[in-house]
Amino acid sequence: MTLISALAPYACHPGESRGRRYPEQAAPTRTDFQRDRDRIVHSTAFRRLVYKTQVFLNHEGDLFRTRMTHSLEVAQLARSIARALRLNEDLVEAIALSHDLGHTPFGHAGQDALNACLAAVLPVQGKRDPEHEDWLGFEHNLQSLRVVDELEHRYAPFDGLNLCFETREGILKHCSAANARSLEAIEPGGVGLRFLNRTQPSLEAQLCNLADEIAYNAHDVDDGVRSGLISLEQLQEIDLFERFRLQTLAEHPHLARPTHQRRLLYEVIRRLLSAQVYDVMEATRAALDRCQPDSVQAVRQAVPLVCFSEAMRSAAAPLKQFLMQRLYRHPQVTQMTGLAQQVVRELFDAYSQQPQEMRASFAARPDRHRAVADYIAGMTDRFASKEHFRLTGVTLLPL
Ligand code: MG
Repeated sequence: MTLISALAPYACHPGESRGRRYPEQAAPTRTDFQRDRDRIVHSTAFRRLVYKTQVFLNHEGDLFRTRMTHSLEVAQLARSIARALRLNEDLVEAIALSHDLGHTPFGHAGQDALNACLAAVLPVQGKRDPEHEDWLGFEHNLQSLRVVDELEHRYAPFDGLNLCFETREGILKHCSAANARSLEAIEPGGVGLRFLNRTQPSLEAQLCNLADEIAYNAHDVDDGVRSGLISLEQLQEIDLFERFRLQTLAEHPHLARPTHQRRLLYEVIRRLLSAQVYDVMEATRAALDRCQPDSVQAVRQAVPLVCFSEAMRSAAAPLKQFLMQRLYRHPQVTQMTGLAQQVVRELFDAYSQQPQEMRASFAARPDRHRAVADYIAGMTDRFASKEHFRLTGVTLLPL
């Protein structure tokens, strides 16, 4: 538990939370943010993350990151930084563990397919039926919010998990202006407002955003090499990587042996992670010193304060580009992406025509297309593949 007295004035203090949508009595031993974290861990959507793709599809190997292990790594990194900066660790953990709850099966491929399906059937903006079609397209950040606000059905008095404003604010990392306006219509002054008036979220939310980036850049290097799609030799072209490889070899020359390649890679990734974590701590401390925010309200009005140094941001850019070109756009990855998109498209068509094939609570909804999208978005990779086979008789991905 974060000692409340240890929190900085610019941290989110649980006693000053903007509260829950449905007021509840405080828990006897936990702060509101601890309680949010606990609700997230017990949710159905959280358990599903273990069978959802991060980059590599679930059936491609047991050791690749899934959304679950990715979320745990983000929480670890964010908590380390939060403690050093005297931010609220419980809130950071709640945001990190829930930040990817809205992802579809099959990673970004699934999201893109679902977005295209919805764009084809929903009326254009301005002619939307506000009763039934509140959202434009499919955005995974907005979907994460919808999971914790609406789609978890486990508490008697309300839908969703009834999380605190600050947790929900952190979950909604990005939002289109159109969807922010819809949010604002439902909840004036709520979590959509900052996308319209261009203010910042709490430092805890800003931190989770950066921790996400640090985590996936590092673990995609690891998974990429494990998959055989990228090699240590290719990575040596990246200055940031090469710097830590040479440093490791200087300290531990025996890791140059071919049998120690894996251990060498782990040492380089460990140093890469540490360097970025310490860089964020230092650059953020400097930004806080310059800006001197004395409250969360001051943080929201300021420029973004959780940041990398300029030097680290530019050193990390080639690594990101490398991953984009050599891993995310690798023919073997994009071939799977194509199949995954076909699965999602055909599921969307099948359920749209036969809603009774969905679980009853989804089949009964009046907002047919959004119900189909919510149903598909909640699926694990495996369940989506099995449902696709059940409804079409065709096996596109291993079951
Ligand atoms: Mg993420």
